[in-house]
Amino acid sequence: MEMKQCMTSRFVRVVCPRCGNKQIVFGKSSMKVKCVSCNRLLVKTRGGKIRIRAWVREVLQ
Ligand SMILES: [Zn+2]
Repeated sequence: MEMKQCMTSRFVRVVCPRCGNKQIVFGKSSMKVKCVSCNRLLVKTRGGKIRIRAWVREVLQ
């Protein structure tokens, strides 16, 4: 796995780097996304774009 801090407009399956919880986030969401398990910030927004701060396991088409 590779740590990515990329911007995407797709659904991505991410793994929380702190607790390992798997979660699906939508890249175009304008909301911050936190890990449902440990509350770590996984996706942050900046200027209408997002940055994923988690392990990206898979990008869903
Ligand atoms: Zn977590």
